[in-house]
Amino acid sequence: MISEKMQPMIKNNSAIRAMFEEGKKMAAIYGAENVYDFSLGNPNVPAPECVKQAIVDILNEEDPVMVHGYMSNTGFEDVRRAIADNLNKRFGTTFSQDNLIMTVGAASGINVVLKTILNPGDEVLTFAPFFVEYGSYVRNYDGNLVIVSPNTVDFQPNLKEFEEKITEKTKAVIINTPNNPTGVVYSQETIEALASILEKKSAQLGTDIVLISDEPYRELAYDGVKVPFITKFYKNTIIVYSYSKSLSLAGERIGYIVIPDEMTDSKDVYTAASIANRVMGSVNAPSLIQRAVMRCVDATTDISIYDKNRNLLYNSLKEYGYECIKPEGAFYLFVKIMGDDEAGFCEICKKHHILVVPGSSFFCPGYVRISYCVTYEQIERSLPAFQAVAQEFLK
Ligand code: PLP
Repeated sequence: MISEKMQPMIKNNSAIRAMFEEGKKMAAIYGAENVYDFSLGNPNVPAPECVKQAIVDILNEEDPVMVHGYMSNTGFEDVRRAIADNLNKRFGTTFSQDNLIMTVGAASGINVVLKTILNPGDEVLTFAPFFVEYGSYVRNYDGNLVIVSPNTVDFQPNLKEFEEKITEKTKAVIINTPNNPTGVVYSQETIEALASILEKKSAQLGTDIVLISDEPYRELAYDGVKVPFITKFYKNTIIVYSYSKSLSLAGERIGYIVIPDEMTDSKDVYTAASIANRVMGSVNAPSLIQRAVMRCVDATTDISIYDKNRNLLYNSLKEYGYECIKPEGAFYLFVKIMGDDEAGFCEICKKHHILVVPGSSFFCPGYVRISYCVTYEQIERSLPAFQAVAQEFLK
């Protein structure tokens, strides 16, 4: 009954989700307060108050036929205009509503872009470790994901191997900064170097390579770190954005893509992407939450909450003897396992009621991802357990 494409997916059903289910089972046995679930990237900071207010005001003030009805497949014009203006103000760009398409979160945005540009057999490069769904998304359109191995020194992309892996089949590259799972922000030098490799290779091969910048964590950067705005560095860039993390609206399924005028065949790409949005079944992004994000276009989440979590967890784990780089963004810590058995390390964590995601799920074995978008109290309560895990290896 099940298609050949779906069969392997059933077998490899997400380790992250599996861990989450495991957490629910353990909570039922040991009590929720005694289980330290760091598996999911579901923001624990509530959406800003203005989102609730905006929804109430929209329902009271706006025409319900318009609010709840179909609109252009690309989304409401005034919503796209407000977001374009906001981007221009913050990043010195010159986008209009005609560069933006509202999407059903970043997951759908990436699918729209891949459906728009991929032919069967085309290659899409990405840098390990990476958000594991990229593989499924690329396979949706019969493309092949080509993985550049991780640079475990600082988790900036491995550009030498990247250049070597670009071929005439390379159609796109997906980057994600601030990064899930490492929390690393790619520096401006990295982006410039990556862009110049893409320009050189496109010219040599006579192809257009699209740089897909997957940015659900763009606003989550700490210590004043600047996240470079990618369209400024490479003309064939498509931005994929989401409000899932930046405004804690993961369940609302809202984001957008930006297709700049400078990109090759920009108008055709835009039209094809709006059709892709429709024919993949989304038709358009959800209308009420589109209108709400327009009213909250300047709103930000309180990242000091994540920052406090980051500092407590990072400083404590370092003190207990764990190895990890201090993340500059997102809400993940990517920690080297103790010992050399990743599955065994995760089992020991589980024994101490800690749930983390194995690095293999991100194509970077030997590490675990800890999501610190949880309460500060959960982190405080979990620290003796992290210390106990370390003591099992350091004794
Ligand atoms: N890209 C990355 C790197 C993510 O971490 C996630 C979600 O965790 C997504 C895309 C999907 O986000 P959305 O909820 O906007 O579909």
